[in-house]
Amino acid sequence: VSDQTSPRSGETPIVEFVVTGDEVMRGTIADTNTAWCAARLYPLGLRLRRTVVVGDRGEDIRRALLEASARADFCIVSGGLGPTSDDLTVECAAQAAGEPLRLDQGWLDWLRARWAARRKEPMPANNERQALLPETAEIVHNPDGSAPAFTMRIDRCTFFFLPGVPREYQRILAESVVPRLAAAAGQKALRMRVLQCTDISESALDHAVVAIRERHPEVRFGFRTKFPENHLSLAAVADDEASAERNLAVVEEECRRTLGGRVYGADGVTFAQALGLELAARRQTIATAESCTGGLGAELLTEVGGSSAWFVGGLLTYSDELKQRLLDVSAEVLRAHGAVSEPVARAMAEGARLRTGATWAVAITGIAGPTGGTSDKPVGTVWLACSGPHGTTARLLQLRGDRGQIRLASAFGALQLVREGLGLASPAAP
Ligand code: ATP
Ligand code: MG
Repeated sequence: VSDQTSPRSGETPIVEFVVTGDEVMRGTIADTNTAWCAARLYPLGLRLRRTVVVGDRGEDIRRALLEASARADFCIVSGGLGPTSDDLTVECAAQAAGEPLRLDQGWLDWLRARWAARRKEPMPANNERQALLPETAEIVHNPDGSAPAFTMRIDRCTFFFLPGVPREYQRILAESVVPRLAAAAGQKALRMRVLQCTDISESALDHAVVAIRERHPEVRFGFRTKFPENHLSLAAVADDEASAERNLAVVEEECRRTLGGRVYGADGVTFAQALGLELAARRQTIATAESCTGGLGAELLTEVGGSSAWFVGGLLTYSDELKQRLLDVSAEVLRAHGAVSEPVARAMAEGARLRTGATWAVAITGIAGPTGGTSDKPVGTVWLACSGPHGTTARLLQLRGDRGQIRLASAFGALQLVREGLGLASPAAP
């Protein structure tokens, strides 16, 4: 599209979102599409101004489009491009623009070919509906789906109509829409890096890098919480790729130096995956002994493809009896200190290491709540231990949050002990 680099104001373009679908309107599903998109458009310096959610009603969709067209330079529309009767977006777009629908022969051919490659019977006629587009629409290819994404102008606003299915929405956005908007925002090159941190609060993270941010206005800083992690996103926008690359590298290096072992990975690796990569590189293994987390530690580790190379297994010992039988925790220690205690956590980790033969064994025993707390050991009291080649370490966590948060933070805390044992992080980081 040639005419979309001319925002009406001559200033930074204004972007709005229209989200369609009864499911989103009723709260059956959350609108993750807009969040995903906004997080990528914000670093471009675009002015993100408004999101409107409408159900599957033609009148509401039309109005939302017309209203956005009167205010915004760009509008990203999600959903309603499918073949069913509740998919009204194409019709509404044509009506809002005051133009007829046309059959896109190219897309129809593609649809038929796609159908033929997957099934024996010919494509039903009602699927041809998906090749109908507003007269002036230009197709944005959707490699993963049958609904075409398209772009068109209504009033002075350039619209991008995208399928609601997150995988398709995200791919089209990243490949086709973000580059166009980056160009419209006057930026020729964008380089991004997300530094993923644990063991640091969002405000502490912000505080740690504030001086770097002030020294480097050419890089945008963003903060995102993905409990219990906090992520720092760095976006370098520049006139050319080489400058963007260079600016990003300088700032990333400074941030990594300041944050040290708190940065466990970058650009979408998971915490367990980053640990697994380290273990694999050293040809070491890990095992778990869990109580209050009910196997969540093992779940995080086995979620990683290829984890069998470094994950030996886990012992889920919820009762005192099983802690004794499977991990050799002594009845006396349990009686004297209680199951949620440093000696029991240590004994669990050592027992698991001995029983499994893993290089590292972590143990988690705590009170996840909402019941079971005492004044001595309130909900959120969690003892962690890690037994490894250099002995056993233990740590007391006093967590806040609901049961799910306490369990997740406990599992992360246990894996963090292994990172410290490997020398990847230090317990007394800034
Ligand atoms: P389809 O061909 O599947 O009908 P579509 O473009 O018509 O695609 P919708 O019917 O609106 O899209 O949504 C399809 C599915 O995508 C929904 O059932 C929902 O699971 C998911 N989805 C839709 N909108 C959103 C959104 N804003 N955020 C996250 N997921 C969404
Ligand atoms: Mg649909």
